[in-house]
Amino acid sequence: MTDDASTELMDAAVYVGDGAIEVQRLPVPAIGPNDVLLEVSHCGICGTDLHLVLERYARPGSVLGHEWAGTVAAVGDEVNGWEIGARVVVDSTPGCGRCRACTRGRSAVCLRREPPDLLDFSRGAFCRFKAAPAARLLRVPDDLPTRSAALTEPTAIALHSINLAQVSPDDRVLVTGGGPVGLLTTAVLRSRGVRDVVVSEPAPARRQRAFAVGATTVVAPDELHRAPMGRPVDTPFTIVFECSGHAAAAESALDQLDYAGTFVFVGTGSAPPRVNHNRVIVMEQTLIGAYNYDAEGFRPALELLASGSLPLDLLIEPVDIHLDEVLPTMHRLTAGELPGKVMVTPELSR
Ligand SMILES: [Zn+2]
Ligand SMILES: [Zn+2]
Repeated sequence: MTDDASTELMDAAVYVGDGAIEVQRLPVPAIGPNDVLLEVSHCGICGTDLHLVLERYARPGSVLGHEWAGTVAAVGDEVNGWEIGARVVVDSTPGCGRCRACTRGRSAVCLRREPPDLLDFSRGAFCRFKAAPAARLLRVPDDLPTRSAALTEPTAIALHSINLAQVSPDDRVLVTGGGPVGLLTTAVLRSRGVRDVVVSEPAPARRQRAFAVGATTVVAPDELHRAPMGRPVDTPFTIVFECSGHAAAAESALDQLDYAGTFVFVGTGSAPPRVNHNRVIVMEQTLIGAYNYDAEGFRPALELLASGSLPLDLLIEPVDIHLDEVLPTMHRLTAGELPGKVMVTPELSR
């Protein structure tokens, strides 16, 4: 199977430069003795994919897409315990345990992780087949559809940011940005018993969806007031998750943070926000960044998805798209027309 597969071709959505994506025929990846070949079931479109394509950071020739689940299509000669048809996600790589990030308990930014070459997502999953080491497979629980399991990676991201911020049920939490990341963060916060989660979002469709996934209050950004100098706003927040990546949203969100509050940068963006350091000092606020996943990898995310406590049908857009629709869908996502996570199936619509 290993040799046969490598000579076959598959459809893939390939970034060709100039903000364009084309469907091309690429070789099905070859697998080594300890690998499996996985047929991609669904792959979500991530904000990172949008940045890479629409802001043209991606390297021409690369295949994007890293939020996916699939089924085992072939197993290497040395692989035990995995059968064809098994439904899986590929876990994150563990930290090395020895570098200066890992020794401080922060394996999410392990310095010895496989090189984070953000320009070369050549192993992306906007295609039909992917190779992966069998040792990194996690079985999708029986009662969780494979399509829903494609939310594992972004759910692991949300869990990591929430754990880093040490959120407790009594916290008053603000989430800025009601796109897929903000919605997932909101839903996970609610599943953790956090009672008061306010979402700020300009697009009406996303505001509606934020409410549906459990936000206690939803506001437009202009409803958040500027803070008086050195003092909190009338109803400040103990924790803020900035999920939009927009400088203006971050600056406004910083104004909403209470004494001893924690501000988490989750969304990336091209223009950096201005931070009033005087305010951070006199109010003893903590500003942190959240990147990647907890040391436990994807298993807690997979268990949370399977627990039934997240509104998966609201977090995932109802209509899946095909490989040839990735680029137009990216433009619709940027326009805020699609609140939830859009899933790509490795097929062509024509
Ligand atoms: Zn992602
Ligand atoms: Zn490390």
